[in-house]
Amino acid sequence: MADHDVIVVGAGNAALAAAVSAREQGAARVLVLEKAPRELRGGNTHYSGGLLRFAYDRVEDLLPMVPGVEEEVPGFTASVEPYPRDRFQADLVRVTEGRADPELAEVLIGRSLDTMRWMVAQGIVMEAAFSLSGVRVGNTIRWSPGAILRARGEGVGLSRMWFDAAQARGVEVRYETSARSLIQDRRGRVTGVAVEGPEGFGELSARAIVLGCGGFEANPEWRARYLGRPWDHAKVRGTRYNTGDGLRMALEIAAAPHGQWTGCHSTPIDAEAPPYGDRKLTDKTNRLSYPYGVLVNMRGQRFFDEGEDFQFYTYAKLGGIILGQPGGVAYQIFDAKVTDLLEKRYRTGRPLVADSLKELVDMLPLDREACRQTLEGYQAGLAGGAFDPTVRDGLATRGLALPKSNWAQPLDAPPFVAYPVTGGITFTFGGVRVNARAQVMSTRWTPIAGLYACGEMVGGLFHTNYPGGTGLMSGAVFGRLAGAGAASE
Ligand SMILES: Cc1cc2nc3c(=O)[nH]c(=O)nc-3n(C[C@H](O)[C@H](O)[C@H](O)COP(=O)(O)OP(=O)(O)OC[C@H]3O[C@@H](n4cnc5c(N)ncnc54)[C@H](O)[C@@H]3O)c2cc1C
Repeated sequence: MADHDVIVVGAGNAALAAAVSAREQGAARVLVLEKAPRELRGGNTHYSGGLLRFAYDRVEDLLPMVPGVEEEVPGFTASVEPYPRDRFQADLVRVTEGRADPELAEVLIGRSLDTMRWMVAQGIVMEAAFSLSGVRVGNTIRWSPGAILRARGEGVGLSRMWFDAAQARGVEVRYETSARSLIQDRRGRVTGVAVEGPEGFGELSARAIVLGCGGFEANPEWRARYLGRPWDHAKVRGTRYNTGDGLRMALEIAAAPHGQWTGCHSTPIDAEAPPYGDRKLTDKTNRLSYPYGVLVNMRGQRFFDEGEDFQFYTYAKLGGIILGQPGGVAYQIFDAKVTDLLEKRYRTGRPLVADSLKELVDMLPLDREACRQTLEGYQAGLAGGAFDPTVRDGLATRGLALPKSNWAQPLDAPPFVAYPVTGGITFTFGGVRVNARAQVMSTRWTPIAGLYACGEMVGGLFHTNYPGGTGLMSGAVFGRLAGAGAASE
């Protein structure tokens, strides 16, 4: 008899959703292996903003998940627009340039609302993500579409609530225990894992294994191998433990690779952020209010249409674009007209501040002459009109080789501020192929018996870019499916 019914590798959102789901579906002995020590547990999930993107037809679908929301965020019910499946689908297809795997996208989007409800039933408390994606205009709030709810306490809260839920259901968690390789029987069924733990090496058997142990974002050698230069130098926004172990183990037994192995999620972060995520700062090094300002590189030039779209549709690709600039650093410049609009997270930064734009440029360690010309060119290209941060306001520059397509206002109100930013890697897009039941597919295009995958390990959904809040949703949807599938083995 196997030592366990289900072994789940990893202890982030996807893995713990799988563990809880496996218990719910009747697996009695569920073991979670966490490579990190207890004090560093929880993977990228701990560092996340806890935002969850899901499809719903009416605000009434949300209200049972956030009782009391109207007292916490007055005007919530009246301000939330529907975000039906076809809108989520259109967002995913648009930002991934049509490459999101349609079968996986259908599972993700189609099961997103139901999985949110299931998470709430498992004890994951939700709240309105107002500070992240809401802008109050008079008595009403404008939300970034689809980005309405997050776990209470953000990633820290989400991780803690998942551990609590797992513990309450009798799931065993072994810390400082990493899976090293998968064990198969002669017919190819996965029957266990080889592990390394505090007592050394060992083998554990199970009727099914769920891999939920993240991508390879914290592995500079793999980053160099698959993402290329300059990704080996990237700062890691989250955990240091996601080094591609699960992907390596799965590929070793002929799992099919899937998706964009040269792609990753990467965002503009404080240039002074630490090399790996800070457990207390978590995602507060993000610098996502660039649509309201001007972004220049060390050559003093603009290199990105800051107003291409709302931040949640551009931020996940902008980190990599910044990293590709000379020195991997850029400056976000704002004037006093918009400083109230900067996300609260900017408060963790140390901006350069000056009373005139000229003085500000004089303080920047970049090609100042070129920067002055860039800013003059930008100001000369402004067309004028009404600025509205709640919609794509069409306030675009005219005649610039690189336009700013929305929210293009003059830099004319002192004081002026500049925030240094670099690109931080969040997670990698390449993964293994899974089917609609989260079973890992082999290169022979058949499911590998006894093996499931979820979370960042699932390849094919994201390419080049990603709509904010989709990673945790994907982890929960495929984690839940993986756990249920594993329990049925
Ligand atoms: C700063 C930041 C902010 C983010 N904000 C959001 C957000 O608001 N919304 C959103 O949708 N997404 C967000 N993301 C992305 C999202 O958090 C992650 O993609 C998601 O948490 C991944 O979940 P996961 O369970 O697949 O992996 P993780 O949560 O990273 O968990 C992987 C687990 O596997 C363990 N592990 C690794 N190797 C082994 C091994 N060999 N053996 C055993 N265990 C192993 C790790 O220790 C960890 O516990 C953010 C990410 C970061 C870093």
